[in-house]
Amino acid sequence: MVLPNHSIQSFFPKIPVPSASHAAAGRGTLQKPADALAPSDAGGDLQPETQVWHPKGVYKEVNISDLQPGSCKVTFKGRIVNSSPSLETNPGSKKSMLPKGYHFLVLKDDTGLVAIKLVVTANHHTRLQFGRLVTIWATTAIVYTLTTASLLIPHVPLFIPIHPSLTSPSSIKFHPLSTSPTLYRLPSSLNLTPLLTFLTSPSPPPTDTRLLVCVDTVFAPRTLKSKNPPGLDLVMTEVRVFDESAPAGCSLKLWCNKTTSALGWTANQTVLLLTNPRRETAGPVPELGVGLGTLVEVDPGGYEAGWLRGMAAGRAERQVVCVPFPEGGFPEEEGEGVCTLAEVDGRVRGEEGSGFVGRVNVLVLGTKLGEMKRMGKLCCAECCHLPLYAATPSATCNTCDTAHSLVLNPAVFGRLADETGCLSASKMVWSDRACTELLFGTGKHKPDPSGVTEDWRSIVGMDVSALKEEVDEKLAYCRVTLVVGWQGEGGVGRVCVLGVDWEDGDEELM
Ligand SMILES: [Zn+2]
Repeated sequence: MVLPNHSIQSFFPKIPVPSASHAAAGRGTLQKPADALAPSDAGGDLQPETQVWHPKGVYKEVNISDLQPGSCKVTFKGRIVNSSPSLETNPGSKKSMLPKGYHFLVLKDDTGLVAIKLVVTANHHTRLQFGRLVTIWATTAIVYTLTTASLLIPHVPLFIPIHPSLTSPSSIKFHPLSTSPTLYRLPSSLNLTPLLTFLTSPSPPPTDTRLLVCVDTVFAPRTLKSKNPPGLDLVMTEVRVFDESAPAGCSLKLWCNKTTSALGWTANQTVLLLTNPRRETAGPVPELGVGLGTLVEVDPGGYEAGWLRGMAAGRAERQVVCVPFPEGGFPEEEGEGVCTLAEVDGRVRGEEGSGFVGRVNVLVLGTKLGEMKRMGKLCCAECCHLPLYAATPSATCNTCDTAHSLVLNPAVFGRLADETGCLSASKMVWSDRACTELLFGTGKHKPDPSGVTEDWRSIVGMDVSALKEEVDEKLAYCRVTLVVGWQGEGGVGRVCVLGVDWEDGDEELM
């Protein structure tokens, strides 16, 4: 579908707007009944706190598909699936594309779609988030056709004008994002196009193209300078999304007021059903965009969305590189005594329900501190479902700008072996103490890198060649005893290294 770039104002016939004095006539006289709207709900952000709107008379509760053109007195709920804020509240956007004096919304319930023309009387633009539940009290529905609209949004037969004011018979209530979380999650009919097909198809996507994607990463909003009109500050949030056909995913860019929609999205959990998304091909790789005719359903229900969430959860588990060392949760006693790697493996697989602590005597096959320092991966943490690597023990997440204390990347310890098997150190979760004890040793056979104090963090100041010569070479083929722990059910699900004992190792070595 090719969408013409017409002004959204041309979609609608002119509707008389009550004058400001008329709107203000009833102020200060109303008590707040049970279903009255506080000013912040009804659009009264600019009105005194004492002002509330409440419905006069009976509004019939209907579904969106029950709406008929003409006069009515009805109330219904729906979730926002698209919005265009008024030009005044969104100065960065292309002027010709935006309505003046009102916000344009598309609402969806489990039965249909309807457009809302919301006269701007308050700071509503920050609430125009995809997926937000709203209640409408309406007295008029107008046919939404090519004679009233230059751009048809598929399956939107009507639009409803809303002018929130104390004396208006029409109103809108924006519910908190947590309200009725399971209401109106029925997805639009699912005739899904794989993301990869959509991105790579040589022909324009047909009308009613639907993509079901999962959020992979939500990057921090960036401010960019617009080209047309030049020099305006535009806020943009980039969201990486994926599906089974395109596991590497692609960018979905949200601009201006739409960036607030992504604030509540969670990586590997939030699923989006996009109807008629835009395919942006200006850059080196195709991207997704949300146009005037796009519908965005957040966290739809249904089998397909559930399946995608399950697939995303499995993927997230595999991606985890850095599990924080758990505080507590291990048995007090070293019940297992000295055991082999094979025995630890069997114990973990056999009895996940119960925790244990034991000792394993292993050979350090080769550490990689120098190499990891060179790669800038000496330390790590995890944030926003992404690994965060650095050469120093503190760093800031590029996605959400949160500062983190990092742990020593367990991959620096390479592989560990005994006569029964071999294990990658990065598959285990190392305590700070264990890291320090492996690097600096305990007792008479400590590797003792010169000039450093005994905390693993002191090695981050060493350069690559010093790490290779003074740490990696000295640790190669050393035998140490690891004090390993397993938390059992409800734990981190990885073998943890609580400490490292060099004394036992010496005896084995001699
Ligand atoms: Zn982060």
